[in-house]
Amino acid sequence: MNIFGYRNREIQVIKGDITEVEADAIVNAANKYLKHGGGVALAIVKKGGDVIQKESNKIIAEYGPLEVGEAVATTAGNLKAKKVIHTVGPVYGEGDERNKLIKAVYNSMRLADSFGFESIAFPAISTGVYRVPAGLAAEAMAEGIKLFLDENPDTSIKKIMLVLYTSSIYEVFRDTFKKLFG
Ligand code: ADP
Repeated sequence: MNIFGYRNREIQVIKGDITEVEADAIVNAANKYLKHGGGVALAIVKKGGDVIQKESNKIIAEYGPLEVGEAVATTAGNLKAKKVIHTVGPVYGEGDERNKLIKAVYNSMRLADSFGFESIAFPAISTGVYRVPAGLAAEAMAEGIKLFLDENPDTSIKKIMLVLYTSSIYEVFRDTFKKLFG
């Protein structure tokens, strides 16, 4: 585990499974339709229960598909977390990936803050099916965290966890966060 500090908040970079993590909110790398059919989304719904998919369907029925960079919350079902925050990252090649990832992180943290949460755990958004290179994702996610903490110094969020599933992506995040926060 690697622990960094920024503006009196703790940032942890961990190799592991986000469904096992103790955090008030865990973030899902969702698609616009909140169809949790693969990757980290499927892992979250499998462990958290179908109630997460059902609440997601209600959100889509009411508001329509999400935009890239938007974030919404559902129950976390059987997971340890209090909420799952679903955010949509960019697909590699669609353009403006960096800013879209910054926005996804920022909006997820804003939502967690609105619930008064003290901890939030992120996966490596867009680095699976959406094919964004891990280095680009790590830098943009770090930038999103910095921006949120710079603009919201009194946030309830005390701990931000990056939970990376594969060794190679973990190593890229660890090295990038060391460079930017170490
Ligand atoms: P996207 O469509 O945004 O690329 P994916 O779910 O395909 O989303 O992948 C995002 C990242 O989540 C990938 O790096 C993948 O290895 C990782 N991942 C998959 N399962 C888990 C899990 N249980 N915990 C944390 N990360 C996971």
